[in-house]
Amino acid sequence: MVDMGEEHKRIRTILVLGAPGSGKGTQGRIMGAIPGFFHLACGDVFRSLDTTSELGSTFLQYSSQGKLVPDQFTIQLWLDHIRGREQTGDFRPDEEILVLDGIPRNRAQAEMMSDYIDVIRLIFLEAADQSQLVERLRRRALHENRLDDASESVIRQRLLEYESQTTPLLDYYSSDVLGRVDAGWQPIDVLRDVIEIVQEALSGQ
Ligand code: ADP
Repeated sequence: MVDMGEEHKRIRTILVLGAPGSGKGTQGRIMGAIPGFFHLACGDVFRSLDTTSELGSTFLQYSSQGKLVPDQFTIQLWLDHIRGREQTGDFRPDEEILVLDGIPRNRAQAEMMSDYIDVIRLIFLEAADQSQLVERLRRRALHENRLDDASESVIRQRLLEYESQTTPLLDYYSSDVLGRVDAGWQPIDVLRDVIEIVQEALSGQ
C-alpha cells in the first residue's frame, strides 16, 4: 500500500486526459504558467529519473515497450514528488490548483489517488484521428529526445494501452466534472476551449 503519511486535505486538481500526442503536455504547461495553477506531468517525473538508478531503469524497461509502469511504483513516485515540491515551496496546495497530465492512467491508479486529490475537472482531449496523433508523435521524436516516440510499433502499443486502460477513467469519474475538448485543432484553439472549462469550474466553486 501507498504510505498515507500524516493527516492531509485533498488537493484541488484538474486532470488532463488524452491519447499520446493529443496535446496534454502542451495544454498542461500553458496552464501551469498561469498564477494559481501548478502543472505536473507524470512522464516528465519519470524522465527526470537517473536512468542508471533502479527506479530509472524500471521506467525505461516499460516505457521503451510502450507499456505503463506498474501502478504501485508510479503512485509512490508521484506522491513523493508532490511532497518534495510542497516542501521546497514550489507547489502550494492551499493556494494553487494542481494540473495533472498523464496520471492517473487507469482505474487502479485513480483509486490509489482518490485519498489525495479532489478532482474538480477532468479535461478530455478527444482525438478523432489516430493518424494525426501518430504524425504529432513522429514530429516530437525529432526535437525531443524520446525513444518511445521514435518507433512506430511503440507508438501503436501506447495507443492500445491508452484505449484499454485509460479511457475507462471517463466512466470512473462523475460526468459532472467531465469537459470534452476537440484535440484536433491548433493548440491556441484547444487552449480557448480548455480555459472556458476551467473558468466554468472555478465560477462554480
Ligand atoms: P504520452 O502521453 O505521449 O505517452 P508521457 O510522457 O505521458 O507521454 O508518458 C510516457 C511513458 O511514461 C508512458 O508510455 C509510460 O511508460 C510512462 N508513464 C507515464 N505516466 C504513467 C502512469 N501514470 N502510469 C504508468 N506509466 C506511466
